[in-house]
Amino acid sequence: MDEYNENIPKEETVTDEAGEEVVLNGVSEEAVIGEVEGADEPFEEQDEEGDEKEKLRCAVCDKEINFFTKKKVTRGLYICGDCEEKSAVHRYKKEMRKLSPEEALRVVLNKIAKAENFQITKSIDGYFLMDKPKSLWTVPYAATPIKRIPRIDPAMIFSYDAIKSYELIENGNCLAKGGRGLPPIGGLLFGEDGAGFSANSEEKDICEQLQIMINLQNVSVPRVFINLIFKDIEKEKRAYGAAILTAQKILSALENITASGESEAGAFSPADEIKKYKELLDMGAITQEEYEAKKEKLLNM
Ligand SMILES: [Zn+2]
Repeated sequence: MDEYNENIPKEETVTDEAGEEVVLNGVSEEAVIGEVEGADEPFEEQDEEGDEKEKLRCAVCDKEINFFTKKKVTRGLYICGDCEEKSAVHRYKKEMRKLSPEEALRVVLNKIAKAENFQITKSIDGYFLMDKPKSLWTVPYAATPIKRIPRIDPAMIFSYDAIKSYELIENGNCLAKGGRGLPPIGGLLFGEDGAGFSANSEEKDICEQLQIMINLQNVSVPRVFINLIFKDIEKEKRAYGAAILTAQKILSALENITASGESEAGAFSPADEIKKYKELLDMGAITQEEYEAKKEKLLNM
């Protein structure tokens, strides 16, 4: 899932063996001037002679890069690690290498602009990130409870409108489904503490996989997965409970997004909620008792 840590592509490592890292530190003023001249030229692996004036710079931010830190985007286009991470182009190596340096640079710049436009105003346990003022969201491509630093792929930043429906899937079974035009799931499936939840899942006491699938109305990316559990976990373990809680929070955020399209603040109306539950009761989706309990609670708000 996370191929991020292959920092130095093999082909480059080999040529680097002979390279002198000493070059990095000995920056004379002369060398600095020399760099500007050579900045536009495609980088050639220089063998020896210690041509220290030939410094390589990131094509995006102009930061100095070297044999070890440079990231190849395509032939003749190198960027720094920061710009690579921001644009996430390392996830599209094959596609990028088909482009000319000019085309590739344009793509990288667009991606970085998109990334910089996205400001995380809410993070749900690192798995689901939102820019609420702009009505944008994303799912980082590498987030686990251990490694919380979200790695965002700008191509995976979507608007609220893009969400069509979503499903909570455990061991391949759909446990809950929601979305535009569908009845709310939050209050029904989950007890206050998420406790009522596992009762609905299969009798199995091992969870092999727990994921949320978000279906999009987007031709290029039809669906996005949030993988909460991808290794066997006994359901009595605390980690399972934590994953369920995260799932609950994400589903409730998705529900808010698809329910109104507006910010949830102020949009909540107990009367509307009661009406929703009445409809569910009439449909037979909930029992009379469940309906009464909900109504009672909502009336007391
Ligand atoms: Zn850079």
